[in-house]
Amino acid sequence: MTLTFIVDRAETDQRRRDAALRELSFGAAPTDHMITIEYHVDRGWHEARVRPYGPFEVVPTSRALHYGQGIFEGMKIFGTEEGGAVAFRPDLHAARFRRSAERMAMPPLPAELFIEALEMFASVDGDWLPSGRGTSLYMRPFMFGTEETLGFRPARQFRFCLFGTPAGSYYDESVGSLSVWVSHEHVRAAPGGTGAAKCVGNYGGSLLAHTRAVAEGCDQVLWLDAHDRAYVEELGGMNVFCVVVEDGETVLRTPPASDTILNGVTRRSVIELAGDLGLRVVEDRLAIADLHEMAQDGRLREMFACGTAAGVAAIGRIKDGEHDTRIGGERTPGAVTSALRERLLDVQHGRVASRMAWLRPLNAGRTR
Ligand code: PMP
Repeated sequence: MTLTFIVDRAETDQRRRDAALRELSFGAAPTDHMITIEYHVDRGWHEARVRPYGPFEVVPTSRALHYGQGIFEGMKIFGTEEGGAVAFRPDLHAARFRRSAERMAMPPLPAELFIEALEMFASVDGDWLPSGRGTSLYMRPFMFGTEETLGFRPARQFRFCLFGTPAGSYYDESVGSLSVWVSHEHVRAAPGGTGAAKCVGNYGGSLLAHTRAVAEGCDQVLWLDAHDRAYVEELGGMNVFCVVVEDGETVLRTPPASDTILNGVTRRSVIELAGDLGLRVVEDRLAIADLHEMAQDGRLREMFACGTAAGVAAIGRIKDGEHDTRIGGERTPGAVTSALRERLLDVQHGRVASRMAWLRPLNAGRTR
């Protein structure tokens, strides 16, 4: 499916762009344009636009505001050494966006339209792509229900929107590793619920525990399963991996994808890249009690989180009631975490010939 985009060009403020590219503060400086595509149950997808970034009108009855019919994605465009621009695994993001829509009784956007929107965006704002390893243009596609009635049923009308913002390298040696706080009171997702969808409610429901984690001096919540409150699931916006020594072999362990975990594109990529590095990956339940024990007896060598925004980031501490478990000693990130982080960045910047299929070249030559 293709649509003809109506293009309404914004005035470019070069000083604003230069400042944004200098500061690279995550999410703070949207580029000049955004994409919108409308949906109506009787008309299907229509009215695709490239327009200046800015507010749009939302009716007070908008389903997203009342019943949470809202989903989003987070993905990145990277620069290559040759000066090109590539989207990292946009096909997987398009597919997850469709799965999220289906779970939320929203119309799944055809993958070709998702990619076209990305291409249109890159063609108008590609010069917002920063240069430098680990830097990127972070893209935020989202969709929400809009409709002029309030009855409790799925909306008949939706808007898709995509905007982008230049992003710096999240990982900073001076910041060190992440510390995580285990939530026992609240859960993020339950079996049969929406945990595997990237829907707005999952994040709204996580914020209270997040503020507790921060009050406890930690960076993020480490969520446990809803049923037993015993098994590690993920962080609020990242999947987790442990580097464990089992019978003399270094193994990567991560909770299996399920309907209570967001199956990250980075998670999947790390699993595949671990194979390149000769590491065996075990997708199995991880009891939090075992993690504390394995950290104590030295079997848990490293732990890391991964996601689009941060890439691969070491976890150095788990705060959990009376446990204050340190992982990795002085050397965080550990060797496996560092190797995977660097390998992923190499792939993302187009430096690994065998993984070029993960990248979609975009017509967005950098002007700087
Ligand atoms: N879990 C959650 C809850 C997330 O929001 C994200 C970010 N999308 C992830 C994991 C990591 O997913 P990805 O690697 O696709 O960014």
